[in-house]
Amino acid sequence: MTDIQPFLIGGAWAHGEGTPFDSLNPATGDINGTIAGASAADVDRAVRTAKAAQADPAWRDMLPHRRAAILRRIADRIESDAESLARRQMRENGKRLAECREQAAGAAAAYRYFAGLCEVMPSEVAPSRGPHLSMVVYEPYGVVAAITPWNSPLTLEAQKVAAALAAGNAVVLKPSEFTPTPALRVAELALEAGLPPGILNVVTGLGGETGAALVAHPDVRLISFTGGTATGKAIAREAAGRMAAVALELGGKSPHIVCADADLDKALDGVLHGMFTSSGQSCIAGSRLFVERAIFDGFVARLVARTRALKVGAPDAPDTDVAPLSSFIHRDKVASMVEMARADGAQVLAGGTRPDDAGLAKGAYFLPTILGGLDNTARICQLEVFGPVLCVLPFDDEPDLVAQANGTAFGLAAGIWTGSMPKAWRLARALEAGTVWINTYKELSVSVPFGGVKESGSGREKGFWGLRTYQEPKTVMWGLA
Ligand code: NAD
Repeated sequence: MTDIQPFLIGGAWAHGEGTPFDSLNPATGDINGTIAGASAADVDRAVRTAKAAQADPAWRDMLPHRRAAILRRIADRIESDAESLARRQMRENGKRLAECREQAAGAAAAYRYFAGLCEVMPSEVAPSRGPHLSMVVYEPYGVVAAITPWNSPLTLEAQKVAAALAAGNAVVLKPSEFTPTPALRVAELALEAGLPPGILNVVTGLGGETGAALVAHPDVRLISFTGGTATGKAIAREAAGRMAAVALELGGKSPHIVCADADLDKALDGVLHGMFTSSGQSCIAGSRLFVERAIFDGFVARLVARTRALKVGAPDAPDTDVAPLSSFIHRDKVASMVEMARADGAQVLAGGTRPDDAGLAKGAYFLPTILGGLDNTARICQLEVFGPVLCVLPFDDEPDLVAQANGTAFGLAAGIWTGSMPKAWRLARALEAGTVWINTYKELSVSVPFGGVKESGSGREKGFWGLRTYQEPKTVMWGLA
């Protein structure tokens, strides 16, 4: 029992009664450790602990500048621990160390940003339509369940937890079973920073066991979920049964557009960056590339050459461009989707297999892959692969482009490379996406709202909106007659 990593409820470590599971290093196949699983009874205890802690005046009535001070101290501690947090994440999801370091810094930045917002977010006095004073105040939900995926746990968890705490909630966080421990370490740092015990609880476990119990708990009033669209739909259905609120950050199949009038060198860099960083395991990966037909062959030829030259290697090797996928199961799923595309008639222009380098044989590696010869209705152009697989598609004119780009169930992000400002503006307004990048791609900032339309989700995180997501407006009307 002692070598099992416990989880955290009410500031105390718990081994729980759920199914324990192993955390694997996808770069080597080694076991990082065994993690305790939270059962439905453990989840119930976590939620009841969070509910009591949230209702305690010590937290509920804490003045905003004092709450902000705690969030800033959490940010300080994350910064002091950043290298170890980054390496912890890298061991669990195989992401390049340089990206993990950026994400540890991003986590600290999220706590600082929401500390700032916590101090300045106003209540409102609404225009009166009679002899009364109409006020709008913003109340916390109470207990927020935060459920996260494995691709970027440090930042994704920080942007949920920091915002939910700034808004006055208590949180029960369930990290992915593939990346269970960064959340545990951050919660430990939060306790050291003075966050009252019970305000941030972390329950580790499998989605169908621990996650499902959390979603079903009657005292969870908001479920903030980031993950796959199928899981998000199941969570939304469950939440609807008791009218619990949901904020859903789901999958994507984002169009990345290169017009003939673009700076093609910069566009080429942007397409590679937008697709193959994080080994393509990014909800906003620009995984459908639309190139104007007049330049299609030349641009794709350059892209294929650059893709073949990308260095596939260990996540902590400084010259690695593309690290392993997050797990062996996921690598096999990506490989099977490439096989499906081949069966549908795709031409494999680059990659398409595991690397044959013997030094990489023990890890969950897959070559950066480009597929051509299909149209936008092909299964591989419609389904999220969440791996290093790019589909290239030509377009003829703006109406054709917009119809193809919007022709998926998703609507998370889009990118446009063009020298024409009016064209960029027209396209940005016409594309169905939560974020549109123009002459850049995959730029993220905690100060702007992020989220999707259509089956990419509902609700927004980050920015001013990111705090309001964790609050409910309440109208208070004073009679003046
Ligand atoms: P996933 O949906 O399989 O799992 C996400 C989380 O949900 C995990 O913690 C998992 O344990 C939990 N879970 C699974 N089944 C559950 C259930 N029945 N009830 C409650 N919880 C359950 O997703 P994943 O494979 O971990 O992550 C990849 C997906 O996440 C991709 O689709 C990607 O696009 C998406 N994603 C979206 C964003 C965004 O901001 N939109 C960001 C990152 C990742």
